[in-house]
Amino acid sequence: MDATPADTTARTRVTAIAGDGIGPEVMRATQQILAAAGARLEWEEALAGAEAFRKGISSGAPQETLDSIARNGVALKGPLETPVGYGEKSANVTLRKIFEMYGNIRPVRELPGIRTPFTGRGIDFVVVRENVEDVYAGVEHMQTPGVAQTLKLITEVGCERIVRLAAALAQAEGRKKVTVSTKANIMKLTEGMMKRVGEQVLKEYPDLVHEHMIVDNCAHQMVIRPEQFDVTVMTNMNGDILSDLAAGLVGGLGVAPSANLGDQVAMFEAVHGSAPQIAGKGLANPTALLLSAVMMLRHIGDFATASTVEHALYVTLEEGKDLTGDIAPAGQGGSTGAFVDRVIANLGRQSEKVPVREYRSIAMKKWPAITWYRAATTRELVGVDVFVESERDPRAIGITLAAAAEGSAFTLEMISSRGAQVWPDLGGNTFLVDHFRARFMFKEPPKGNGIAEITDLLQRIGRQHNWMHIEKLQRFDGADAYSKA
Ligand code: NAP
Repeated sequence: MDATPADTTARTRVTAIAGDGIGPEVMRATQQILAAAGARLEWEEALAGAEAFRKGISSGAPQETLDSIARNGVALKGPLETPVGYGEKSANVTLRKIFEMYGNIRPVRELPGIRTPFTGRGIDFVVVRENVEDVYAGVEHMQTPGVAQTLKLITEVGCERIVRLAAALAQAEGRKKVTVSTKANIMKLTEGMMKRVGEQVLKEYPDLVHEHMIVDNCAHQMVIRPEQFDVTVMTNMNGDILSDLAAGLVGGLGVAPSANLGDQVAMFEAVHGSAPQIAGKGLANPTALLLSAVMMLRHIGDFATASTVEHALYVTLEEGKDLTGDIAPAGQGGSTGAFVDRVIANLGRQSEKVPVREYRSIAMKKWPAITWYRAATTRELVGVDVFVESERDPRAIGITLAAAAEGSAFTLEMISSRGAQVWPDLGGNTFLVDHFRARFMFKEPPKGNGIAEITDLLQRIGRQHNWMHIEKLQRFDGADAYSKA
């Protein structure tokens, strides 16, 4: 018997996580369209989300799924529920963190046939969000029974790699401008680091226009004049909020795709959730996952199929037939299956309304896996901030803390309440809570590492006050490494 001719065209193996709710429906729809378009893919189905939680896997992603993603390096993922009552963490966050997918890419492009208040403005930009740092590190402490604190951790390397990714993405898509958007005017060290690194790094890309925009103005500008943006890059929380705002400009979360990129793994997913109300009814719109799959095809270098699928979708949306209920005119919503058939029938057709954009692979820099360490040439320990819980009046706290410091290596410089100075002068009408920061400065530079002096100070303070935590006040390379009151 003749052997079947060998399939000589290599297929790319992709981990497919159908997910929860409408996930399996939109995944099946996407896979059908990709197959009809001739995408050379081999799917490796993997489990994550509610079923994994039910099986007692607290991360929401079994080891086989993690192994599959690690092996293939590419995943397409449906929405995952974060169940209330069992399981603890979001499986989405777990996957992003485990594989250090530091770059969240959210294209924001006007879609034909999807009417919004911004239709016709030609919105076409990308939000690049840092995906693993910032307040999402989730390091939180109750400081007193009524005062909570979270740590906003921003690293220089984290800023550098996301800005470089934004620049590489701009180049890959033939874009011209990168807007670094930060709250550097208030958070001069954390958000300021993103601004500063953005300025340094983008100097190396003279073909790209670089601008900085304060993030609140960026939110305003996105609504007032969204067509001005090309690529925007932000720290995690700012990017989280503004990427959803941006999705709202072009049709909402239901049609918004995304990519999570890391050095080893890329995971593509719709922005929307599992929409449990319509799950299993054949009503879900697969557009967002399909557009995510288009991003995936470009990631693996299949630009032709990506363009074919994208244009078949555009033509379908333009024609306005067989659209699902969320985007069809009221009362005319069709089924997921009819929409898929229509997109498949439109494969090979080209939208004349959507401007053509040339894509190339994103030239991502490979980062070393080791902890990145930036040394300072000089370091000085100049003081210590001690956070104390007290219900006393700031003047009384000042007197007791100044007295505690007498005979120690320190002098009390100031006390602040939630960042506003309340001692030696109580400025304005500062509202007081039971949480104070007392700043002690070394009278003269410590001879050794200063720990004995700090321990002595804490013992003195602890006789009268409950202190919660301390921060060393340092100077790196001659510059203050702490904020002023
Ligand atoms: P959601 O699932 O996005 O649903 C909100 C509403 O949007 C739905 O009820 C539905 O509205 C509409 N919708 C969303 N996607 C749609 C689609 N493809 N086709 C048609 N309509 C669509 O948001 P949620 O209700 O806040 O979250 C539900 C679950 O999803 C939660 O467990 C949440 O944790 C999870 N979630 C997961 C991810 C992720 O995996 N990346 C993201 C977000 C949320 P109507 O039916 O009212 O028209």
